[in-house]
Amino acid sequence: MRPTLTGEEKAARITVFGVVQGVGFRPFIFRLARSLRYKGWVKNAGFGVEIHLEGGRKPGFDNFLKALQKEKPPLSRIETVKVKAAAFRKFKDFRIVKSRAGAGFVFISPDIAACTDCLEEIRAPRERRFRYPFTNCTNCGPRYTIVRSLPYDRSETTMAGFPMCPDCASEYDSPLDRRYHAQPIACPVCGPQVRILKAGTRKIIEGGIGKAAELIRRGKVLAVKGIGGFHLVCDALNPRAVERIRRVKQRRTKPLALMARDLGIAGRYAWIGRAEREWLASPSRPIVLLKKKKDIPGIAPHLGETGIMLPYAPLHSLLLENLPLIVATSSNIKDAPIMKSEEEGLDNLCDYILTHNRPIATRADDSVVKIAAGSPLFVRRARGYVPYPQPVPEGLRSSAQVLALGGELKDTLSVYKNGYVVTSQFLGDLDEYRNLGYFEETLSHLCRLFDIRPDVVVTDLHPDFRTTRFAAGMGIPHLRVQHHYAHVLAPMLEHGVEPGKKVLGIAWDGYGYGEDGKAWGGEFFYADYLSHVRAGHFKEVALPGGDLAARQPWRMALSYLRESYGSNFPSLPVFGVLEKNKTGAVREMMDKAVHSPLTSSCGRLFDAVSFLCGIAPVEMEFEAEAAMRLEAVATATTLKSYDVSLNETGPTVRISFEEAVRQIIKDLKSGTPVPIIATKFHNSLARLIVRMADKARKDMEISTVVLVGGVFLNKKLLVLTTRLLKKHGFEVLRPVSYSPSDESLSLGQVAHALAGLSRPKA
Ligand code: ZN
Ligand code: ZN
Ligand code: FE
Repeated sequence: MRPTLTGEEKAARITVFGVVQGVGFRPFIFRLARSLRYKGWVKNAGFGVEIHLEGGRKPGFDNFLKALQKEKPPLSRIETVKVKAAAFRKFKDFRIVKSRAGAGFVFISPDIAACTDCLEEIRAPRERRFRYPFTNCTNCGPRYTIVRSLPYDRSETTMAGFPMCPDCASEYDSPLDRRYHAQPIACPVCGPQVRILKAGTRKIIEGGIGKAAELIRRGKVLAVKGIGGFHLVCDALNPRAVERIRRVKQRRTKPLALMARDLGIAGRYAWIGRAEREWLASPSRPIVLLKKKKDIPGIAPHLGETGIMLPYAPLHSLLLENLPLIVATSSNIKDAPIMKSEEEGLDNLCDYILTHNRPIATRADDSVVKIAAGSPLFVRRARGYVPYPQPVPEGLRSSAQVLALGGELKDTLSVYKNGYVVTSQFLGDLDEYRNLGYFEETLSHLCRLFDIRPDVVVTDLHPDFRTTRFAAGMGIPHLRVQHHYAHVLAPMLEHGVEPGKKVLGIAWDGYGYGEDGKAWGGEFFYADYLSHVRAGHFKEVALPGGDLAARQPWRMALSYLRESYGSNFPSLPVFGVLEKNKTGAVREMMDKAVHSPLTSSCGRLFDAVSFLCGIAPVEMEFEAEAAMRLEAVATATTLKSYDVSLNETGPTVRISFEEAVRQIIKDLKSGTPVPIIATKFHNSLARLIVRMADKARKDMEISTVVLVGGVFLNKKLLVLTTRLLKKHGFEVLRPVSYSPSDESLSLGQVAHALAGLSRPKA
């Protein structure tokens, strides 16, 4: 509500809620108010920023409110602005006044790449921050990863151990300075310093960042401390150095991320469209997956895309001055969390350590996005995006606080309070005990930062997930939400779908625990926030060997062949890559129905088809490797597809690919090129979705389709399906600020808990 306030005798109290602290908001208000000749004050408050305005050049406050939205500092994010009439106090000037501590939901900014002003300073020999790698200002620099607790003051960050020098202190205290109240403010006199250590002996090597760059040029592997943790770094164009990183990380084929000095260098190796350029250069600086232009050996074998980022810390910019392109992959032992301190076992991974003495409070991996039809598709959401708040639709809001712990693989956790959800950074797979430590670390960090005392905890339905057991021990009400249903709810909440609206939710992934105890993963639901009905699913096939079948695509190929031809199906030349007796043992396993649970997984269907086409590895090193190879070879050269049959005899449609597999085998035998087969397979899935959507419209009057689950990281499938659905008049919702993978389960879990809490009592 906006009261009309006119004339000099009127005053207004304005409260601004959002990411407005620690981002230069108060000096911005100070300058704006003065330029419009307002008197009064601005201060940080528990919920954001509070402003008292009176006087002014023009009657009313509209010019101020408009400029507030239009000219706000780059790192700020305004959620709401409230204006109230206030008593006229005859202030003589406009001031920034001291904050009072509050117990609200204060948002802090994610970590932001060095701004152009700061980068210019470190390149200007006359500046006192010339070549200083920790230069930052209110518009840029570390935030989330250096905060220990709130309020966001220097003493509560990892800069607490660096008392400001007089020069820094005067910038910090001057409202017109770019560094006014920049908590991480530092300079060569008072701030953190880098040093190089020889791995193992920890001998100090002189020469700073220039020396580090020289060591990299000479083929050495360095661990480099950045913002959210250490990278392992080497010259990307030195195959032997790349090979060494692969060896220490125990990664034969998993793609390695690159850091390019600038867009020009990146453009030599990858195709960069307008949207890609924007994301590469954005202040959050994610790794962007780009179509390869020129392959670099050992970086992203067998894949069509390669991940590139631009320097984000000033330290990176200095390191890359004489190095065009480096590998910058997170420093961790296989599947363990990114290291944030040199005491976590770095010496075994590298030759030298380029470190510094500003501690990292919270680790955060680099975020990874690709661009699908002009919009981001998050592969991993971490540094640069956490902890942005997610507003919850009006009808779902509750005064209760909710904690959601996600699933188990690619986990995140989410907290809800006062109408907003904050989702953590990607925490990795919790079946690795070191990640469980990371999970607990982040849980207590988020609860401390946002002052969370949960009334309810939400987890997956899976009884044996570590998160489920953890929640059971918390002593508060514990709600469990089926995996794929939680998947569907996440984009609904993200896009502000109001309670009561029904959607067709399509959740396709590798595995989730089903309500019947089976392994689900090719699921269709009629759903709203409160309830769901399983509208359809892929017909179950055997998962011979259980978990092994999720890593060895040939097992799924055998399973689908058996499904399509019966138990005496003939073998195919493609199985020749395996040892003789292996396929026999697996066939027997299925015949006797031992170690062969049933699955409706879409991910496993991709594995089978990829293997039959002869492009899948015998053993996958990382999730979806076989599927990614199949996507990589698919082209848009044919509109044909395979026959997928819908069995509609019961209330739940069973979808069978038996005929499709027979047609694929026929195509393979007649010499149809694999790219055509891969394309026809993608087309078949897109058409299946349209058929199911048409049915949802006919039977349920549903016209909104949600596409989610790890399978929809497949850009070709996502773009194709979205286009077809829109052509048929459907609204399509898919995750844009979150990953479609299990990373967004915790967000969906919050949605379901809120629906139960906000439901009017009968
Ligand atoms: Zn800056
Ligand atoms: Zn200083
Ligand atoms: Fe999933």
